[in-house]
Amino acid sequence: MANWETVVVNTDLLICGGGFSACGAATEAAYWAKKKGLKVTLVDKAALDRSGAVAMGLSAINQYVGIKDGENTAEDYIRYVRSDLMGISREDLVYNIARHVDSTVHLFEKWGLKIWKDEAGKYVHEGRWQLMINGESYKVIIAEAAKNAIAAAGGEIIERVFIVDPLMDGNKCVGAVGFSTRENKFYVFKAKAVIATMGGAVHVFRPRSVGEGFGRSWYPPFNSGSSAYFTIKAGAEMTCQEVRFIPVRFKDAYGPVGAWFLLFKSRAISATGGDYMVVRKAELENWKPYGLVKPIPANLRNYLGMLDTEQGLGPLYMETSEAIQNIAAQFKDDPKAFKKKMKELESEAWEDFLDMTISQAILWAAQNVKPEEKHSEIAACEPYFIGSHSGASGAWVSGPEDLPTPYKWGYANMTTAEALFAVGDGSGASSHKFSSGSHAEGRIAGKAAIKYIVEKGAEPKVDMAEVEKLKAKILLPLDLWDKHSKETTDVEVNTNYIVPRQFLHRLQKIMDEYAGGVISGFKTSKSLCERGLELMGLLKQDSEKMGARNHHELMRVWENNQRVYQAEAHLRSILFREETRWPGYYFRADKPKMDDANWKCFVNCQLDRKTGEWKMMKKDIWTMPGV
Ligand SMILES: Cc1cc2nc3c(=O)[nH]c(=O)nc-3n(C[C@H](O)[C@H](O)[C@H](O)COP(=O)(O)OP(=O)(O)OC[C@H]3O[C@@H](n4cnc5c(N)ncnc54)[C@H](O)[C@@H]3O)c2cc1C
Repeated sequence: MANWETVVVNTDLLICGGGFSACGAATEAAYWAKKKGLKVTLVDKAALDRSGAVAMGLSAINQYVGIKDGENTAEDYIRYVRSDLMGISREDLVYNIARHVDSTVHLFEKWGLKIWKDEAGKYVHEGRWQLMINGESYKVIIAEAAKNAIAAAGGEIIERVFIVDPLMDGNKCVGAVGFSTRENKFYVFKAKAVIATMGGAVHVFRPRSVGEGFGRSWYPPFNSGSSAYFTIKAGAEMTCQEVRFIPVRFKDAYGPVGAWFLLFKSRAISATGGDYMVVRKAELENWKPYGLVKPIPANLRNYLGMLDTEQGLGPLYMETSEAIQNIAAQFKDDPKAFKKKMKELESEAWEDFLDMTISQAILWAAQNVKPEEKHSEIAACEPYFIGSHSGASGAWVSGPEDLPTPYKWGYANMTTAEALFAVGDGSGASSHKFSSGSHAEGRIAGKAAIKYIVEKGAEPKVDMAEVEKLKAKILLPLDLWDKHSKETTDVEVNTNYIVPRQFLHRLQKIMDEYAGGVISGFKTSKSLCERGLELMGLLKQDSEKMGARNHHELMRVWENNQRVYQAEAHLRSILFREETRWPGYYFRADKPKMDDANWKCFVNCQLDRKTGEWKMMKKDIWTMPGV
């Protein structure tokens, strides 16, 4: 086995991940831990300042309820999420986040985030729930608060360590193992409670960008399904694994469309000029009651555009120039004011990209696109797993203590594995929390985890013999490389190992062709899922044969392994749910209709840690009384 040092870290609370929800968890947990003399340790695969989905920055905070100003209520937010998820949401979790999220946003402002204000000093809304920000440094600001809180409480932040597996004592999580992506160090974390918050997953499906721009995607390439893998391997129940997310974005550079649709009131049209949201309105009747609700659910908006594309009406375009001209038209009688407004709109349009997707600004520049003069192509991206946005996949977690939810086992956001909590993209059926809601949910879980430690925390019992086996398994790819790479003239072609990139291509091909990726027009069926699972079984056998030439490739190997679990949970869930409920995300071509009588329920799944068998379950929907 590769001769790596084993580093043991003892802590009370372990936070796996360093993104938005981890920063929320760290900030809150450190506050309570300090009072109780407990240690909080946060471990991030990358560097906290610029890790996770907000690494590059954002141009809007997508969840702000505005309770203090009487703008909306937490109940209004439940109604919004219920419709957008076609009836399938954990209303207890959604409510819990919605009632706490505003205070999180106020903290962001206190910490230095610039939120746009109008002349009257009120927040500038992008849409009903969204606030405009100057957010290039959004993550840096939120990370700084987490760092300060952990430092003040005597905790520890460990960067560039990739968490692989949970450590279990029966059904209880007692820590995690991982490895440094820079040094020859294998890490063993022993903890009384663990929060899994390592984001969602990308590159499970083949991206549109292959070859020329392989790796470019809407979802950040750093998140590879670690949260899902960790909770699945802990034996925790998972939910909504079928609810992937497909955003429609500016094509190829995946630039955001939120500001265009919501702030600039732009239209999307087909190549022949038809506004698919108007032309295909009748289709929405087929998906009622959700199809008739405003705003129209994201998947249905996608679906109407996809229908145009299928019928040869593509490419689709965002009418940027029309939108800008419409806004500036208010000033048409005053040439000076008109020019000023046009300049302002133009700069807002570019800022939107420069805040969060610089590559889109570069692509616009490269393609001579002036948004005020010419429209831009949009397209449906490949599918992603992001339970905090408009998808819903994640772990099945306990609801808040004070609500009459049937899904409650003591501590908010604890999974069905004891002492293991999940938040952000790691917790399911509570989407539309976005950056601010993920942070708020992190705070909720951070506080609950400290409460658990105070009330029930026991010294973690870690079987070091088991740890040694895990170390050998995790470092095996380095051994395979060392032993066999000199046997062939091309190190990438070898009968004794497969390089991570080739493995990734195989996974993506299976998912793309059998689970409804871009190439199959987002359509799948029972037979396709079954065949996909068969091939996935073979791929899993080969996963033990991945070779790694260095630290970076070792990370790639484990990213792939983690993606495979996310992929399998997804395939099994879309196979189990015998209906089509989210057209525009995926379409079960053999069951093309929504079937409320049989499938208005959660689909949950669980991996038996001992046998390796998956169990599929239906769970009832609970609606918040009076909402
Ligand atoms: C393209 C895009 C645009 C978005 N736009 C908006 C917007 O405009 N407004 C808004 O409010 N929200 C937006 N969101 C949503 C927001 O970014 C997410 O809701 C939020 O980041 C989720 O927080 P998280 O902590 O679950 O995941 P992340 O913030 O992604 O953090 C995941 C963390 O886990 C770490 N990690 C991953 N794997 C491992 C591992 N194996 N070991 C250790 N650490 C690991 C990562 O390094 C990272 O620190 C957007 C998301 C995306 C992808």
